Amino acid sequence: MILHWREALENKNDTFGTEGGSALYAIIVHGGAGNIRSKDPERIEIGIKKAVEAGLDVLKKDGRSIDAVEAAVKVLEDDPTFNAGTGAVLTFDGEVEMDAAIAYGPNLDFGAVAGVKNIRHPISLAKKVMEKTDHVLLAGNGANDFAKLMGSEPHDPTTQERKKQWEKYRKQFINGDYKDWPKLRKLFQEHPEFLHGTVGAVAVDSHGETAAATSTGGVFLKFLGRVGDTPIPGAGTYATPNGAASSTGLGEGMMRVLITKVAADFLRMGLDAPHAAEAVMNYLDNTVGTEAGIIMVDRHGEIGFAHNTPDMPYAYFKEGMAEIESNMR
Ligand code: ASP
Repeated sequence: MILHWREALENKNDTFGTEGGSALYAIIVHGGAGNIRSKDPERIEIGIKKAVEAGLDVLKKDGRSIDAVEAAVKVLEDDPTFNAGTGAVLTFDGEVEMDAAIAYGPNLDFGAVAGVKNIRHPISLAKKVMEKTDHVLLAGNGANDFAKLMGSEPHDPTTQERKKQWEKYRKQFINGDYKDWPKLRKLFQEHPEFLHGTVGAVAVDSHGETAAATSTGGVFLKFLGRVGDTPIPGAGTYATPNGAASSTGLGEGMMRVLITKVAADFLRMGLDAPHAAEAVMNYLDNTVGTEAGIIMVDRHGEIGFAHNTPDMPYAYFKEGMAEIESNMR
């Protein structure tokens, strides 16, 4: 039910958790949008279910959603099947530069890192930015220095599989057979000197607190220094007292639509997570029209998901369900 605009403006739901009461917990994770089934559906399904299990271990013990989404994303960052942490895609130059963000709904807290290298768990570094600094987003060398300060051991996330894909895509790109990046392709033709080279979880816990986490290597063949939607508040990741959202797809479109912020606004206006996810996808389709997918929870324990890509593998569990559900489409 959509509220009247005046009721929506005066919405009293922007409060912290359930003020001592108990709520239904729920978690949903995604393994990226695109054409996934052609890759390795079995490995993907095992991975996203394991991630939900890791989050549930936290939620079942009355733990906090912020720890549940971190635990879920860490599992996916360690799984080379996914474009986050180990197995992240390579830039045009053949390096791995990763973005990650975590958002805590009750007080709009946010921590993010952009363009970090040689880190095993970018999501945990993003959480440290939120908890240990007064900043929201650290990028590049500064973020890597902060990682060292926090005791992070160097870790090379490059896998042989990704390197092979990079070689193939780069060759196609240079030969003009790669369909993405039309503007960059032209730029490379005009300036040959340029030619040297996702996962998410959202949860609500038994205290009614919401949280979101997203981690990615970005997109294949991106420019060094390119930052996508993932670490930008309201673009790839967002949480408010009403709900939380994580998106996947072409960041350049989602940053312009602020897809997760708009989704959170729909929740505040009275939509539940399933309807808010559909409504925001419709908005994106009618505006930038780029490839995207979104997962959401609302404070009442409802989950939502929508995508305009052929697939977006996701897995979820809501309190009361017999087992984890997953969908590879
Ligand atoms: N949204 C990510 C980015 O553009 C990529 C993805 O979701 O696969 O960096």
